[in-house]
Order: sequence, then C-alpha cells, then structure tokens
Amino acid sequence: MNCLQDASKPHFVLVPFMAQGHTIPMIDMAHLLAKHGAMVSFITTPVNASRIQSTIDSAGELDIPIQFVPFQLPCAQVGLPDGCENVDRVLEKDQVKKLTDAYSMLHKPLVLYLRQQTVPPSCIISDLCQPWTGDVAREFGIPRLMFNGFCAFSSLCRYLIHQDMVFENVDDGDELVVLPGFPHHLEVSKARSPGNFNSPGFEKFSEKILDEERRADSVITNSFYELEPLYVDAYQKRIGKRVWTIGPMFLCNADRGTMTDRGAKASVNEKHCMEWLDSMQHGSVLYVSFGSMACTVASQVEEIALGLEASKRPFLWVIKSDDRTTEIDELLPEGFEGRTRCRGLIIQGWAPQAMILSHPSIGGFVTHCGWNSTIEGISAGLPMITWPHCAEQFLNEELIVNVLKVGLAVGVQSITNRTMKPHEISIVKREQIERAVVELMGEDAGAKERRTRAKELKEKARKAIDEGSSYSNIRQLIEYISIRVT
Ligand code: UDP
Repeated sequence: MNCLQDASKPHFVLVPFMAQGHTIPMIDMAHLLAKHGAMVSFITTPVNASRIQSTIDSAGELDIPIQFVPFQLPCAQVGLPDGCENVDRVLEKDQVKKLTDAYSMLHKPLVLYLRQQTVPPSCIISDLCQPWTGDVAREFGIPRLMFNGFCAFSSLCRYLIHQDMVFENVDDGDELVVLPGFPHHLEVSKARSPGNFNSPGFEKFSEKILDEERRADSVITNSFYELEPLYVDAYQKRIGKRVWTIGPMFLCNADRGTMTDRGAKASVNEKHCMEWLDSMQHGSVLYVSFGSMACTVASQVEEIALGLEASKRPFLWVIKSDDRTTEIDELLPEGFEGRTRCRGLIIQGWAPQAMILSHPSIGGFVTHCGWNSTIEGISAGLPMITWPHCAEQFLNEELIVNVLKVGLAVGVQSITNRTMKPHEISIVKREQIERAVVELMGEDAGAKERRTRAKELKEKARKAIDEGSSYSNIRQLIEYISIRVT
C-alpha cells in the first residue's frame, strides 16, 4: 500500500510560516508525527522546497509518510520579485506584507489539494503567522492547531501582552511594565517584546492572528514540560486550551545525514568541519551563531573578532554579514585569521548547526536566543552566552539566564533587526564579549554550576522525547485527532 494513502492513519496537514526558524521545527514535527503513526502533508513552495531537497529525497527513499506539497506562490500578483518566497529574501517591511498576502492566497490551492486526497485531512497544524488556515480548517470541519515557535514562558508573555493590550497606553518603548497575570514578577518593555506585526498596513493581518489564536483548537510548542512546568501550566490555564509540549523536536534528527543539511545546504564541507572539531579538546570550543535571519554589520563583526581573539578560547563562528558584496576576510581585522588559525574556524553562510552542537568538542554557545537555537543548545547540554537581537529573544534570555540559570548575558540593551541601518545599531563591545567568554568557558564556581545544570537539562530533554512527557504527548495528540475523525 502507498504509505501516503493509508486510510488507517490520521492525516495531518502542516502549514509552516516560510522563515527558516519557523519551517525547520515543522519539518522535525512532520518526522515525529510520521514516526508515531500519522501521515503528513507538508505545505511548501518551490524555492523553499529546493532548500530542503535532501530531506525530501530521503523521506521518499525511506518511505516515510510525508508528502511535501510545493504550491506556486503568486509573487507577481502581489508585487514581489519572482522567487521571493521566504522571509529571509525580504529586506523591506512592505515586502513582508506582500509575502503574507501571497501566503494567504494559497487558500484555494490548499482546498483543492485536500479535496483530491484519498485520505481526507484530519487536522491542520499551522504557524501562528498563517492565520488564513483557520478558514480552511472550518471549510473541512477539522480542527486547526496553532504552532507557536516560542517556548511556554515567551508564549505566555506574548499572549498577555497582545490579547490584554498591555502596552496600549505606553509610548516609550523602553519603559518597563510589570506584566499582569504572569506567574511571578516580570518587567517587560515594548521594544524588547515580541510584536504582532504592529506596523501600519498590517492591522487586519494582526487582528486575524489574534482572532485565530482565540479560535484555535489547541497549541503546539517545541518545548518539554520538565523544562518550564510553571509556564506551561500557566499558559494552558490562561488560554483555556491544551498546550501540547512535544519537544525538543530537533532530537528526532538522530543521524548525521539528516543533521548535515537540516534546513538548507551547508556552506561548509561537513567532513572538514567535523575533522576540525575532532582535533579540538572536548568541551573547549565556543560556538557563535545568531540564527538564520540576523545579518551582522561590519563594525560588529570586528568587535566580535577582537573579543574572541582576546578571550584566547577556541571558537567556531558562523558569520552572516549584512554586506553581501564584501568577502568576509575583508571585514575581519587585519591579521586576525593568521593569529587565530590554530583555534578558530569561520563558516560564512549556512552552518550545519545541529551537527556542530552535538559534537563533544563544543563547550559553550553564543546565541541570539531564537527559540530553536536555545532548545538545541539545551538539548546539547551547553551553557550559553545570551545575545538577543529582536522578537521574543529578550524574553528567552530572561528564561535562560534567570530561570534556568544556564547562561550569562553579554549585555545587550537594545534591539537589532534586519531592516535597521548600521548607524541605528548599538554595538556590543569587544571587552563585553571577552569578559563573557572567559567567564562562561572558565573554571570558577559559577561556570561549573552552569555546566552542571546544562547537563542535567540535556538528560531531561532526551528523556522527555525518548520515553517521557513529550513522547506521550505526541502519542496522545495523534490519538486525540484520530478519535475526532472517527
Ligand atoms: N540554523 C542552521 N544553520 C545556520 C543558521 C541557523 O542550521 O547557519 C538553524 C538552527 O539550527 C535553528 C534555526 O536555523 O534550527 C534558527 O532558528 P532560531 O529560532 O534559532 O532563530 P531564527 O533564525 O528564527 O532567528
């Protein structure tokens, strides 16, 4: 029997938001659901599909019941350049709006596709930023489950901030406001909290997101219960819906093959990268990466280089520069590469992060606190230096540093995002970086405690997905959906 047309299995339809940090965890989710007995239709577009071709091919070869469905995105119709199908191709805010318009125009093709399937859809799991899918789910009389790529801590903050309009009368973005309804005292500022597409032109879209969030059947998060029980319980109580914690979903990538090109083709030779890591002492290397979206301005690249050099620690640094025309060695301080050759490796572009983090030579992670990177760092048992840029990353920093106590802050005060001009960005100085690296990778009591706690969390994470809470949540989720359709 064709494993994609097996009527005994519930049919999950997954619609990610097409930004790497949103799509990658949903690919993992598709694999987990398939492993536990569901069949999956994964909605994508040609450009996005081409990035994950090796994942698509290997699902086909191994007969994994995931069907990747690439729909043509009507870019020209909304005024986007051809092929502009992912948020990382966009640099202006009005293009983001056009992109969200183009995604919502996938309504008709999706309905048509679902009508043609031998096995009808059982539910839609879609990203918070794909609210139009709520209408599709209602058309088929099936539940829409919302995937929120945040942890429960930040999801609860976001929910309270937007549903309760906490910042409605706050003009100063830096003003600290006590968050009402949070399980403990927490001060948040508008500038350092996740927005809800608050720019002019997005009003209808942001209202639709909130509305569909209220109407969603339940919520799925890439976290695990034992990591943040207080916040999972509080979030669930506040929204009055089930929160399915099924993470860390990244741990479904068990073999090197799936880890190497996870999300996109790596820009480095995998063998070279692994050999370099093999040659380093266990736990000695600091991994520095700011996720898929952040582009580092030239003056910041220089400060990081000099901070890392002064720390005298081995490092593996992933650079995505905002200056795409200049070669990376031209952005680095003179002589830097020669001086750090024995202890530094630089990857320009896409790094095989999942593979790198699982290497025993990695001993610390400088992260922008995107939730995927954070949960991947936690799963790898790594202490972290937190360097939030934007969105909910400042909230994740709070969780990492003050709640889980596995990280220390480099000391970022204001946001950085892709649409900001270099002169608007506040640069983290080399001395701050050196201090944080020396402290994190050092041997004082604080560093040792952070390392011990990080290792404990790694054990809990593995247990949750192998046999514990996340494992049983995935099975319960599949059962819940199966019962609803029978
Ligand atoms: N990632 C990767 N290689 C890179 C950059 C990012 O594999 O060079 C992956 C990373 O492992 C994570 C995702 O892309 O799964 C980034 O998501 P995150 O939430 O950390 O940050 P975002 O990119 O959304 O800011």
